[in-house]
Amino acid sequence: MKVLKFGGTSVGTPQRMKDVVKLINDGEQKIVVLSAMSGTTNQLYEIADYLHKKNPVGANENINKLEEKYLQHVEDLYATEEYKEQARAFLKEEFDYMRSFTKGIFTLFEEKIIVGQGEILSTNMVTFYIKEQGIDVELLPALDFMRTDKNSEPDLEYIREKLKLILAECPDKAIYITQGFICRNAYGEVDNLQRGGSDYTASLIGAAIGASEIQIWTDIDGMHNNDPRFVDKTSPIDSLSFEEASELAYFGAKILHPTCVQPARFAGIPVKLLNTMDPSAPGTTISNKTHRGTIKAVAAKDNITAINITSSRMLLAYGFLRKVFEIFETYKTSIDMVTTSEVGVSVSIDNTSNLSNILNELKKLGTVTVDVDMCIICVVGDLDWHNIGFESLATETMKEVPVRMISYGGSNHNISFLVSAADKQKALQSLSNHLFNNPTEVAKG
Ligand code: ASP
Repeated sequence: MKVLKFGGTSVGTPQRMKDVVKLINDGEQKIVVLSAMSGTTNQLYEIADYLHKKNPVGANENINKLEEKYLQHVEDLYATEEYKEQARAFLKEEFDYMRSFTKGIFTLFEEKIIVGQGEILSTNMVTFYIKEQGIDVELLPALDFMRTDKNSEPDLEYIREKLKLILAECPDKAIYITQGFICRNAYGEVDNLQRGGSDYTASLIGAAIGASEIQIWTDIDGMHNNDPRFVDKTSPIDSLSFEEASELAYFGAKILHPTCVQPARFAGIPVKLLNTMDPSAPGTTISNKTHRGTIKAVAAKDNITAINITSSRMLLAYGFLRKVFEIFETYKTSIDMVTTSEVGVSVSIDNTSNLSNILNELKKLGTVTVDVDMCIICVVGDLDWHNIGFESLATETMKEVPVRMISYGGSNHNISFLVSAADKQKALQSLSNHLFNNPTEVAKG
């Protein structure tokens, strides 16, 4: 069985919902994971924000606005009065439930329930529509099987067992629909898999049922070899290894959530990135296969801050790096890039919420300087050190751009450059021109 996930824009309007149903109604049995309609989750967070700020009037106004929007969708989506009626009754129940949160105390616990309503709405709307088309469908509530453990990690064993039981209770359905993003935590409370987490849901379900394939449907034709918003002449990548896809997702390729790849990777299930606007386009296949000696893509990660600590105490000393890293650990700040010399270390971070505390601590160890508004440019491919010439090719391409840090050798799949945000476009375009639009240069590996 395949698992297909459709993101917010793919179900963003009643017409898009109809297109999705046309696409999934091919006679093959499948589990379909849906996100909330685009914009809805943001609106739900906004409602939660009003409630945190103890403004029930503001929250109610926003709930009513959202309800009106969905009532209009009902008119546009269903052809028969019977289904319009059912959908309206469902929406009334849902929105009354949301309004009930404006009356009591509002904590993070209630927030989790509110922000997960977008997926409840989209999956029910689509399921009613599928039923109206006379197609055999079952809605599987994600809260019945998707669960995290005490470390907030997905509990794959539980998900596997539960799904098996649930599917056995309603076998032979043509289409199973379920919600992305939402789950329960180890204590059975409503929780979620973080923003953009529906990809993760699909990958976890795929791993749990041993799917033959996981398809992530968005509105572009696969992962591109560079960011089309900044660079001309980008093209979709046919295939990526799981490692390459993880690096690209982490370093800025928005099409895929960084956590999504892991469950599929461990279960060895190929992940396809496909385009709802052009369903016959081949898209990108992510699998265990590595293409030796090829550079696949470039991605950029914004809002990076570089910190340099220099100290003569580091010379020939041991334990200095541990002291530096412990400070970042204390302030729960993860480090992306690291470069070291005999007397100094530079690191890059993207979360600056504890920057002043971190700097105060680091100053006890040495002289500290900070560069803000930086950007990591990440070149991804089979960059094993035995492939002579690839890192020098990437570096040569950056010769017109001031580079603050370079990191190579941490994995076999990536070389990263830290540059000023102002130079991002120039760096990306230069890499595209030399690596992808001038094949003779790349062939030298
Ligand atoms: N609806 C959630 C979000 O907007 C999850 C998702 O779409 O993947 O973050």
